[in-house]
Amino acid sequence: LFFRDAQVNLTADHLLDGLLTADFSYRSCRSRYEFTAYHQKSSHKPSPYLIAKLRKQEALQKRCGPGTAAYKKALRRLESGSGGAATDIDECRYLVNISFRGLGNRMLAVTSAFLYAVLTERVLLVHWGNNGGGAGLFCEPFPSATWTLPRAAAGNKRYSPLGNLDEYNEGSENSLGNILQSGGAVVSDAAGGNVSWSWAPPRRRPPAYVYLHLAGGYGFHDKLFFCGAQQRLLGEVPWLLMRTDGYFVPGLFLTPPFAGELDAMFPEKDAAFHHLGRYLFHPSNAVWRAVTRYHRANLAGAGRRVGVQIRVFQEKQPPQQVLDQLLSCVRRDKLLPPENETTNDAVLVTSLSSWYGERIRAEYGGRVAGGVHQPSNEGEQRWGDGAHDARALAEMYLLSTCDLLVTTGFSTFGYVAGGLAGLRPWVMARPSPWEEWTEAQAKAAATTEPACRRAISVEPCFHSPSYYDCAAGKDVELDKVRPYIWRCVDVSWGIQLV
Ligand code: GDP
Repeated sequence: LFFRDAQVNLTADHLLDGLLTADFSYRSCRSRYEFTAYHQKSSHKPSPYLIAKLRKQEALQKRCGPGTAAYKKALRRLESGSGGAATDIDECRYLVNISFRGLGNRMLAVTSAFLYAVLTERVLLVHWGNNGGGAGLFCEPFPSATWTLPRAAAGNKRYSPLGNLDEYNEGSENSLGNILQSGGAVVSDAAGGNVSWSWAPPRRRPPAYVYLHLAGGYGFHDKLFFCGAQQRLLGEVPWLLMRTDGYFVPGLFLTPPFAGELDAMFPEKDAAFHHLGRYLFHPSNAVWRAVTRYHRANLAGAGRRVGVQIRVFQEKQPPQQVLDQLLSCVRRDKLLPPENETTNDAVLVTSLSSWYGERIRAEYGGRVAGGVHQPSNEGEQRWGDGAHDARALAEMYLLSTCDLLVTTGFSTFGYVAGGLAGLRPWVMARPSPWEEWTEAQAKAAATTEPACRRAISVEPCFHSPSYYDCAAGKDVELDKVRPYIWRCVDVSWGIQLV
């Protein structure tokens, strides 16, 4: 490729039209500047306002991040347990993202937390979790700062007043939901527009930290996070901890105090993840080497790259059914050459099982000159295994280099690949991962559903939105509130920016 040494002339293309700065050396993180060499040119340009907000956030991360005097001060204050609104104008406020679940989930969660941090002028720190090191997978995204929460704050009770971050859940005393329910904050006007802390009367002081539980199945009071009044309240809290496993960005568009800013940042709403994901995530050199080697050996020569992501959530679902669904999708929408025709395509298959790659090769190997390739077959999802996570990350990026994608509904792994690529994939329907697999479901799926549907946008689906309209005081149909928010094709109760 064209990079030989550190003296590289970076162009607007390398820097993704201004999303990135040239503040990192080329050698320290090759993927940062080589993304463009392996991907189609994006049809979406980031807005000048988004770029300005990113630069502002970088300055904040540098001024307040771990290792700075401001960080030490904030940590001391947290340790002393003293709450109270940030009085000092220079005082920094923090958002700690507690990562959990698979890598796709973790990436979508970090993206959402990052956008929330930008909107609320907080420093984002990520607790990558004890079951998997995001730290070794990604380069730092912010110049001269780390986004990884240092151990002293993440560790056990001896080191941190926050305790074990992996143990926070909906039952935690300092969760927003429990504070609101136990009278820790009071609603002081009838319309619910004004809420204030009733902490430590008679002086109304915000707590030193609040935990935000924003994971699937969260309750009514935790969902009040998406209300303007609660956001004003949270603004006074120096430390926020957040546990989320998904893409709640569409929910931020529905939160009144953020709507105007988001409108200015994202004139094209359907490119929010496409920009934020390409801004934040840069595979480490080791992961990137695996991506580029595999790409050069197997995909680079093809006229067109077709990516197929097969994810099976129900163990009992017969593999043949999954394969039939894929083949029927591919045939109906003519995504690969029909019998007796050949093309210069290459097919990239990602799946935990090697069987799919083998079957697709048996079916299409003779028709696609670029071959059918499956980089790995891990068997099953594993936790706390860095090499396993690295392969998953490499495969998401390999998929994102494709010209056309067929992905599996519900899968955050597929959302990340499509979002990075800026492609609207063909999405194969799946029953909800939480349901038991039944034959009845299989029949219903085969008869009533098309095998796949083209996604309506590049954006990931928000699986667990709050339907509550805080101003109206009742649930609403979310796809009728804003013209740019629709229901997802794969998750009927989910919403998506379009
Ligand atoms: P989701 O469960 O499909 O929403 O995606 P996640 O990425 O959150 O979790 C699935 C995890 O299973 C991944 O992070 C990988 O660890 C593993 N996995 C699932 N599918 C694949 C695949 O096709 N290739 C690889 N290498 N790993 C996979």
